[in-house]
Amino acid sequence: MADYREMWKDLGMDVEQHDVLCEVLPQAVGDVFLSQENRPERMDYFDFVLAEVHGVRPAELVEFKKNGGKVFGTFCAYVPDEVIFAGGGIATGLCAGSQFWVPGGEKVLPANVCPLIKASVGARLERTCPFFRLVDVLVGETTCDGKKKAYEILANDVPMHVMDLPQMKREKDITKWAEEVKDLAALVEEQTGNKITEENLAANIVKFNKKRQALERLYAARKSENLPISGTDTLLISQIAYYDDPDRFTEKVNVLCEELEKRIADGFSVFPAGTKRILVSGTPMAIPNWKLHNIIETSGGAVVCEETCTGTRYFENQVDESGKTLDEMYQNIASRYMGINCACFTPNEARIDDVLRLAKEYKVDGVIDCHLKFCGLYDIESNAVVKALQAEGIPALALETDYTDTDAQQLKTRIEAFIETLN
Ligand code: SF4
Ligand code: SF4
Repeated sequence: MADYREMWKDLGMDVEQHDVLCEVLPQAVGDVFLSQENRPERMDYFDFVLAEVHGVRPAELVEFKKNGGKVFGTFCAYVPDEVIFAGGGIATGLCAGSQFWVPGGEKVLPANVCPLIKASVGARLERTCPFFRLVDVLVGETTCDGKKKAYEILANDVPMHVMDLPQMKREKDITKWAEEVKDLAALVEEQTGNKITEENLAANIVKFNKKRQALERLYAARKSENLPISGTDTLLISQIAYYDDPDRFTEKVNVLCEELEKRIADGFSVFPAGTKRILVSGTPMAIPNWKLHNIIETSGGAVVCEETCTGTRYFENQVDESGKTLDEMYQNIASRYMGINCACFTPNEARIDDVLRLAKEYKVDGVIDCHLKFCGLYDIESNAVVKALQAEGIPALALETDYTDTDAQQLKTRIEAFIETLN
């Protein structure tokens, strides 16, 4: 990574502590990504973004702020980027995926909170992530209990707006979410001093639909018999989706897809024949959490799809573009986002239907349903997911993990044994 120490200092970061994190990144990138064979050439852009993860994009955001721009930090796939960008703001995802930040979170949170929450709180309070330092406002949401309480702690340190996400999906809940989307719009207008108009909201609905379509195209390439890209590389792209400039990201994904589609036409695969096709379902994998994919893809499997928020939940379903008034557009945005099936909803059969559908669409040999330790929602739902898969004759394995490496060998043993049983 180039030298961004001055910028990090200006952001009030603990630069010495941050150096410790920077030191381990090149090794991890080498082990997980560069060791893979036959990677698409057009992964070069995403490798660059990763190598400069705490440099290039934060520098762009700092420049944007110098010109009066406002940056909104988000934590969840339910927060609609369309609205933030329509008001001239920039949204950036903040979920943290490294064990490095967990001890900092544990200073203010009980140990039995999921690592994603602990790492996110630790990254802000320990001043070791530039994204967490540069945001003007955090936008939280009432998904799981751990996040709700963590937002109360973060609110002592940085302005916080919490969206009240309904926990059921009746018509009246979708209308209620549309009201929350409207409240977010009011916050964005207040922060940026800009007006959200029918024109700029409609343009941003189209912009983010295009981004979702690019990801859909990327995932469609993974339905092919010969796999043109690894799951590990695709996971990196899904993680970068949360914080990269949306237009540039869309363009780079489409350029990559051209290469992948040529590979499919040429019958080229990054995996040897007979590699078992795996669907991963469960909790999201925030950057730089690549543990599960790395283990699966070095144990005779290929991850062909993720039913997670760093996967299909992020991009499936478009916002209806036919809305003319702001109210119609807010309602259409609410409908699209309420179509995401997170385990925080009840009842949540639609998520099980998604897992079954994706298992068939991606012609998988087996499903690994994996949740982060102390995530009660996905842990409880795992039983129903596995039963539904088994009832359809689809082999399934339920796993729990965290951000440490202490269980890596045990996970590898279980995953290898599971893959060996697949026909
Ligand atoms: S798993 Fe649920 S709470 Fe977490 S990012 Fe996805 S939608 Fe939000
Ligand atoms: S993984 Fe589970 S506990 Fe952790 S933030 Fe997501 S929903 Fe909450």
